Amino acid sequence: MSEQKNETVRASASCLCSGVVFEVHGPLRQVVHCYCSQCRKTHGLMGPYTQARLEDVVFTSQATLKWYQSSDHARRGFCQDCGASLFWQPHDGDMISISAGVIDPPTGLRVVGHIYVDHMSDFGALPDDGLPRFATTSAGKLDGDLSN
Ligand SMILES: [Zn+2]
Ligand SMILES: [Zn+2]
Repeated sequence: MSEQKNETVRASASCLCSGVVFEVHGPLRQVVHCYCSQCRKTHGLMGPYTQARLEDVVFTSQATLKWYQSSDHARRGFCQDCGASLFWQPHDGDMISISAGVIDPPTGLRVVGHIYVDHMSDFGALPDDGLPRFATTSAGKLDGDLSN
């Protein structure tokens, strides 16, 4: 892994109480709306996730950051004071998903698709936005490059 840090701040973010504050010093993926049951339980309906390289996430404060082992292969990061849902991080790999709503606007991001739509609760409705929809995973089709 490179020790050369990218000094350019692409995004600033925080939880509701500012116990967790961080910057992203690198590109972000466009936003994917995930309707899986875990995102539903965590976010209320769906998780609006962007993604960054783990090494590009620089914390100013992580005093209230807590991690929950949400599955065999990933954990979710949240603020133990205000309850904000912040991260989804697979155990392997060098990427971390960031709940796009915690990033201070203007984010310069846009939604590019919907995944796990078969898992959406019966009160939900997908927007008629013409974006690609996937019953479960997009199998990488929405991952794209971190060109943003
Ligand atoms: Zn907080
Ligand atoms: Zn999900």
